[in-house]
Amino acid sequence: MVQRLRECIIAKKRAVWAAAAIIAGFCVFYLFFRSAGPFRGRGGQPFIVRIRVVHNAEKIRLSADAPCRVRDAATGGLLGDGIEMKASAGISPYEGGIKLDDTEFPAGRLRVSVPGGEALTLDGTAYRGEMDIIRTRGGLDAVNRVELEDYLKGVLPCEVNHLWPFAALKAQAIVSRTFAVSQVLLRRRRDYDMTDDTFFQVYGGKTSEKWRTTLAVEKTKNKVLEYNGRIFPAYFHSCCGGHTEDASRLWNEGIPPLKGVRCAWCRWSPYFRWQARVPARVMIRKFKDAGYDIRRVDDIRPGARDISGRLEYLRIRSGNKWFEIKGSDFSRLIGSRVIRSTNLRIKKYPFFYYFSGYGWGHGVGMCQWGAFGLALRWWSAERIVKHYYPGSRIVDLREVI
Ligand SMILES: [Zn+2]
Repeated sequence: MVQRLRECIIAKKRAVWAAAAIIAGFCVFYLFFRSAGPFRGRGGQPFIVRIRVVHNAEKIRLSADAPCRVRDAATGGLLGDGIEMKASAGISPYEGGIKLDDTEFPAGRLRVSVPGGEALTLDGTAYRGEMDIIRTRGGLDAVNRVELEDYLKGVLPCEVNHLWPFAALKAQAIVSRTFAVSQVLLRRRRDYDMTDDTFFQVYGGKTSEKWRTTLAVEKTKNKVLEYNGRIFPAYFHSCCGGHTEDASRLWNEGIPPLKGVRCAWCRWSPYFRWQARVPARVMIRKFKDAGYDIRRVDDIRPGARDISGRLEYLRIRSGNKWFEIKGSDFSRLIGSRVIRSTNLRIKKYPFFYYFSGYGWGHGVGMCQWGAFGLALRWWSAERIVKHYYPGSRIVDLREVI
């Protein structure tokens, strides 16, 4: 009897252990695949971003190592399958649609994909995902349709040095992901969400990917910043020069995470301090090119400064007339690689003006060189982004979309 009771207890224990092992195994399996799986939005669709990589080209060269599939992007109808796209294949517009070498497709928008998932090479640059070729008034546009995480792998190495401390790379991944999602959710444009240049974020496709930046994207997978339940445009810039800018002074973004913070860690930047010498004749030409009716620039004076030290406006004298120009407009007009920020001083010399200033870029959001400096002080990526976007929270994209 005692023996049977013992056997029964042992059997029960084994059953409990087996159940625990199955539950633990299931948890590990769930957690692994939950974190490794690609993001799926509502309805199970992958989170796709649309990046315009070519604008108004007369001809596009598109190739792939595997046979391609061509669809009508407007209707989804299959136009061709198993099409070999050699490196010499040229795509051009014609009256009734778009031509691929000598094959004519009677559609204004083609969607080219490789069923095996191999990259498409467009004018020498490899891209993941699909490529939309759109006929425009000026020629052809190419729009890369790519999953969010794959897009970020092609953004990070173009926006930061891939050899930077890993926490700075992870911070950039969270910020770039947040910015991209905010732009996609706006759905401002019919054919694309962002361009591949500094107007949004620089994107170099698969060709530009580096393993450390790719790892930073993977380690922060689906992590985004939110404020009050909303994913906001997490702007960033190269170097703030001591204090980041209040976004409401530049654009219509008056939320606390974009109000501006002190930053004492970007002195590593080669542009923390900058100087520029601009001849008066060059300035006059630039003003004229921008539509200003002036013949001379007799004096330039700084206007009011905001809390970050940036000029809200500059006052300019031409003859006996004074006029005002916004600081950001002045930088754009003379050239953002010459007047790198609006936190500047001005000195007048007989034939030129001497500008000296701090920082590079609009100054809103994360200071990339500041993130670099903080990562060197062992700050984590999460702590860095929370410093530059105060009041924001890091959340999983799946929780807020
Ligand atoms: Zn800074």
